[in-house]
Order: sequence, then structure tokens, then C-alpha cells
Amino acid sequence: MTTSNHTRFELVSALRQQLEAGIDIALDNQPGEHSDFHWQHDSIISRTEMSPPVVSSDAKAAEPVTHHTAPLSSHNHKQLLVENFGNIRYPAFERITSLSDLKHAMERFDGCALKKTASNLVFADGHEQAEIMIIGEAPGRDEDRMGLPFVGAAGQLLDKMLRAIGLHRNDVYITNILPWRPPGNRTPSAEEVQMMTPFLSHHIRLKSPKIIFALGGSSAKLLLNSQQGIMKLRGRLAKLQLEGAEQIDVLPSLHPAYLLRAPAMKKLAYTDLLTLKKLSSSL
Ligand code: URA
Repeated sequence: MTTSNHTRFELVSALRQQLEAGIDIALDNQPGEHSDFHWQHDSIISRTEMSPPVVSSDAKAAEPVTHHTAPLSSHNHKQLLVENFGNIRYPAFERITSLSDLKHAMERFDGCALKKTASNLVFADGHEQAEIMIIGEAPGRDEDRMGLPFVGAAGQLLDKMLRAIGLHRNDVYITNILPWRPPGNRTPSAEEVQMMTPFLSHHIRLKSPKIIFALGGSSAKLLLNSQQGIMKLRGRLAKLQLEGAEQIDVLPSLHPAYLLRAPAMKKLAYTDLLTLKKLSSSL
């Protein structure tokens, strides 16, 4: 039997491939209209007043919590792991009281093998006083070369995404879980993530943002201490409580590198951006 020009086997294989890629909800029957982040600022402002983007009735049944904007209050208190990792010697974090001191402490840290293969430490970019902190996974080739986060293709898309809600790179503060590029852009190991988490915790504490926009599964899972996939976590507001720090709103969303591979998912990222905009305007 065939449907249009595709055999049943081809359709099932295509669905299986999507599932393997982590796409476990249905959207529209047609590719989305938001195939690029070229919206104008004015239209974005008015869209925030509009109803949610169209989601098919099937999708609603499969994913009842897909929301236009996340609830603006949550009592989901979470905490990062801050324990030392194995026999690794960490700096005395209590004596590191500025972002520049933290950067220097990371430059001196020799516990993580990624440092040996990387060209540069990628610490952060953007504005130190920004209320929004964006946390990605790890630097790629361009970031490694330039020593700055999100400057390659994914970074250019991130800039467009921010512009879509009237923000510029300098209105936010951007960093990653890992400051060094994993060779060949491989996924960071759980050990590497765990080893560098005390630095990230201190980075967040020193930066003390009001909102964290967690990009991608690794960042969302770490910050929410969750095993759930990004498709389940994205768009839902959570709270992060670090010791000795104010509670921080955490909004997980899709990673721009993933959006480059799966442009139809940009409509979901867009709803998250609207939530981010709403959250930041309510500060
Ligand atoms: N992907 C990330 O997670 N971070 C970067 O800095 C670049 C790509």
C-alpha cells in the first residue's frame, strides 16, 4: 500500500528516524511557517498577545502541556551538584569573588583532559550585569578558535533568536557547561560534565542572573537535575536554588545547533523565546 508517493515502509522508517533523533511529538501536517528567525521586532511584540502557535489536535493529545508561555511561578526547587569530583583539586571557590578571578582559576585548572586538546578556554560573552544567562553545552570549532561561546553557525542562529524578541547579545550573558571543546565536537561525557559542574555552579552564583535560558538537553538535564528529554523539559519553568544564592528561574529550550538540523522545531523554540521575553519583562 502507498500513501501519496511513499510506501508504508518508507513512512515507518522516517518516523523511526525522527524518534531516534528525540522527536517524540507531532506538530503540523505541513512544515511550519517559522522556518527562519527573520521576524521583525514589532510583529514579535504583537505576537506575544496572540494565541499559541497552531498545534495539531493530534499533537495536543500527545503533549497536553505544550504552552505558549510557561507558568510564571513554580515551586520546583532544584540544586546543582557542587561536590568535588574524585581526587580532583579544585580552587578554593569561597575565595573567588569575581567573574574575572573565576576565569583565571579555570585557566589554571588542569583536572580536565579537554583542556589539552582545546586551543582556548571559552569562558563567557555578553554583559556581566545582564539578567538573562544563557547556558549551552560546550564550545565547537569556531568557539574554540575564537575563545568565545556561540560564535559559529549555532551562535549566529542564537543571535537571530534573541533579535526576534528584541534582544542583542549584549543584553544577555552567555556561557557553556564546559569551557573547552570536546575533540571532534563529540558529546561531553558525564564525567567531564560532573567534573566541571562546580565551576558552573560558582559561575552562576557570581553572575547571579534572574533567569537562566538553558539550551539543549545537556544543559536542561543538568540544571533541572532531570533525566527527561529536552522535548519534555523545554518551555517549562523551573527554579534553581544554589546554596547561598537567590532562587533563579530556569527556562529550558531547544539548542540552536539542533534547530539548524531540524528547522521545523523553530516554532517550539519561538514559544520559549516568547516565554523568556515575558519573564524578563516581568522582572
Ligand atoms: N554549542 C554550544 O553548546 N555552545 C557553543 O558555544 C557553541 C555551540
